[in-house]
Amino acid sequence: MSDPETAPGGESGRDILAAYRERIVRLMAIAGVIFLAPFAVNDLVQGRYLLGGAILMVVLILGVDAIAIQKKKRAPLPFGLLLIPMAASIVLSLKEQGFYGALWTYPAVLFCYFVLPRRAANVGSLTLSVLAAGVAYIYVGPEITARFVVTLALTVVIINIILNIIGQLQQELVGQALTDPLTGAYNRRQMDISLTEAIERNRRTGAPVSILALDIDHFKRVNDDFGHHVGDKVLKGMVTLIKNRSRKLDRLFRMGGEEFLLLLPDTRANAAVKQAEALRKLMSETALIEQRPVTISIGVAEYWSEQTQEEWMQTADDALYQAKNQGRNMVVCGSADTESIPGLSESPGKKYGRAG
Ligand code: GH3
Ligand code: MG
Ligand code: MG
Repeated sequence: MSDPETAPGGESGRDILAAYRERIVRLMAIAGVIFLAPFAVNDLVQGRYLLGGAILMVVLILGVDAIAIQKKKRAPLPFGLLLIPMAASIVLSLKEQGFYGALWTYPAVLFCYFVLPRRAANVGSLTLSVLAAGVAYIYVGPEITARFVVTLALTVVIINIILNIIGQLQQELVGQALTDPLTGAYNRRQMDISLTEAIERNRRTGAPVSILALDIDHFKRVNDDFGHHVGDKVLKGMVTLIKNRSRKLDRLFRMGGEEFLLLLPDTRANAAVKQAEALRKLMSETALIEQRPVTISIGVAEYWSEQTQEEWMQTADDALYQAKNQGRNMVVCGSADTESIPGLSESPGKKYGRAG
């Protein structure tokens, strides 16, 4: 059973700034034009054509991408391409103006981290730093170069600390936004995302997928007889049992109250029914409350093409309703395609099992 840490948007090593990249580039482009253009013009006027040209190239690439982003189009020039004129500007500036040239390495390194994915940023900034340090050693001497390298390394460490914290905060927020705080199961928002993805996958690849609609039997009585806090413990215990009994790719959602939905990717109705049966049995045999067995009813539905998400969920819900009507602690399959299930002739709405 997947957990929020590995949920969509929560994978480790992911590009945490990806969603904000276009905004960052647009703002950097505006800042770049304002701050760099005067230097480019000054260098060109002073006859430092190579340096002026390299800075102008940085401004132009930023500008072209920013205009495209403003027009809601894809940036035509890869941001990584900027490293070439940036590195050229730093090297030429170091060569022609000495120590001052080294100062440009700091914004260039920052630029790498905010515009490129982390791994590319590490490679880019390391390359820039080594190059700048090598040229600095030649043109400004070892003492300044030593301080330059140490301050640059500190800058890189600080950026990495900040980005790691942003990544952690982002992960926590995604977890909170997509899970139910009481049980840790995913919430309805994540359910809508996951069911939409599952349907798209089925339409694209034909991969089967089933859902189980689970509801605790007579849960109101649990609350009435033992108190709300015991009811809460039952909800948590049930989620733990289901998670422990599920595969990594299965997903459990709390629909509200004591109703849950379990998404079973790559699972046909007959296998889903078996899993439902196993869960029903497990619940009825586990003493979540002393002296009182807690049972669940389950409605099963395999997705079939052309169904909408609502129709699919309704099929599972109708099956659950039948399970309740037929006496609870029961699994009912609502999918029409159940011929492959041994011993089953009538469908849909066939009852599968009930503990004595
Ligand atoms: P049935 O077998 O027909 O499902 O009966 P039921 O009593 O389980 O069904 P009903 O939907 O009438 O009751 C659900 C109860 O769940 C009512 C509500 O007090 C309780 N409930 C909803 N959310 C929570 C919660 O977060 N914690 C606790 N302890 N109880 C909750
Ligand atoms: Mg109930
Ligand atoms: Mg209910």
